[in-house]
Amino acid sequence: MSSDDGQKKILLQALDAFRHDVVIISPDFRIVAANRHAEEKWDGRIIGQVCHSLLYRRESPCNACPAVEVMRTGLPAEMKQRLAVYQLPRSVSCFPIFAQDRIEALAMVDYDLSRMTNLEEGYQRANTFLRNTLLNAVDGIIAADMTGKVIIFNQAAAEATGYSIAEALDALYIWQIYPEDGRQNAREIMRQLRGESYGGKGKLKRYHIDIVGKNGERIPISLYASIIYEEEREMATIGFFHDLRERLRMKAELERAQVQLLQAEKMASLGKLAAGVAHQLNNPLGSITLFAQLMIEEHDLPAAAREDLRRIIHDAERCRDTVRELLEFARQTRQQMQPQDINRALSRTLFLLKNQSLFQNIEIACTLKEGLPPVRADIQQINHLFMNLILNAAQAMRNHGRLGLKTRMAQDATQVCIEVSDTGPGIDPQILPHIFEPFFTTKDPGEGTGLGLSMAYSIVQNHGGQIRVESIPDQGTTFIVTLPVAGPNNKGDSSEPIA
Ligand code: ADP
Repeated sequence: MSSDDGQKKILLQALDAFRHDVVIISPDFRIVAANRHAEEKWDGRIIGQVCHSLLYRRESPCNACPAVEVMRTGLPAEMKQRLAVYQLPRSVSCFPIFAQDRIEALAMVDYDLSRMTNLEEGYQRANTFLRNTLLNAVDGIIAADMTGKVIIFNQAAAEATGYSIAEALDALYIWQIYPEDGRQNAREIMRQLRGESYGGKGKLKRYHIDIVGKNGERIPISLYASIIYEEEREMATIGFFHDLRERLRMKAELERAQVQLLQAEKMASLGKLAAGVAHQLNNPLGSITLFAQLMIEEHDLPAAAREDLRRIIHDAERCRDTVRELLEFARQTRQQMQPQDINRALSRTLFLLKNQSLFQNIEIACTLKEGLPPVRADIQQINHLFMNLILNAAQAMRNHGRLGLKTRMAQDATQVCIEVSDTGPGIDPQILPHIFEPFFTTKDPGEGTGLGLSMAYSIVQNHGGQIRVESIPDQGTTFIVTLPVAGPNNKGDSSEPIA
């Protein structure tokens, strides 16, 4: 056998091993030869058949038939389409076989593209899934190539840093999100990544560092990063980070709350102590008043001594009143909803407070509307409410200013309105939304617990009323409380345990 024959034999064997149809057709579309794959598919009935009628079950050549194209141009041609007979994507390639200058026959290779398409679709699905996983991960994910250019930037990273995904992918370099000398910081991270100390070579675990947002805000993060290698070559770095701001804020809040709870507890025990002391004072005060009165009635008492005794009685009575109010204040067991005179409640609270040093040099202006209808209220809670508002006003004025107490009917006549105003520094608009939050205080530890207004808020809520604040910086603050009047459906006496 000549070497040409040998080569031909090998080629024919190769064609037979080919897992797609290969046919040779004459210019009039008749099949003159076929490889084993095609022969087997058509049960040996293939030779002599017209290609379009056998292979594609058509009476005339296919649309865009590559054989027609090859015969027209003399050049190889390809047709890629979903053929009706198979309903599957196919690619049919056709090559001219020349004898001298004439096309003697055509070789046609029919690829079944469906297998390729399945692979491609699977690949695309996996790719989309991976992309969505990265994009929607709860933690921030940023990857950069070895020049530092950001190549992956997910939604959480966008939310934490303030850069949009598009702008990050367009022009952000990784060092731009590190503070101060960003390049130096990025280099340091690469050094750590390449070292062994934090999670092994090429990896960084739970590394705490700050990044900077677009608006310059520093964001503490916990970073997990790794280098992506391709055949030992560093190709990119990828970092998964968790924004620690919320966690740190909550930690600080918790610590503050703990300190304030301790403080509140201390205040509560002080209150109990005060009530105990007041109780103890009651009896001796009664005796002082009684004996002073007995003495005053003696006939031969000099006028000056009589005057002194009157003063003793007067002051002892003041002490007794204070003690009584204090006891009233401290006594609280069950919620007692009863019609109450709001003017009286306000006056009693004022009576308890006005002689305290905090009120020195503070002018008090009371405008209490007469004849107000009673309010269905728990008097203990209402006393606390007024006390908190009045104390805050006095503290804000720091021994200098005017305290205004005003009561009136509200516009809709089903509510009574109480206003506590001061000429203090006002409330910074930035903190205004927080003042009713429990434990929110701007006062020094020991001076404020941050509970006064949150307590006031819940007391007013409890009474079906509203509390709001109007404040003008450097001019003062007014707290306005409205409480529903005790109407026919809102009257009776009820006792409920305190929640
Ligand atoms: P505390 O008085 O213990 O701080 P509050 O809940 O009573 O707690 O008040 C919260 C904060 O609201 C205060 O720390 C203060 O900053 C602000 N505030 C309350 N009342 C006034 C007021 N009349 N004038 C200015 N600021 C006030």
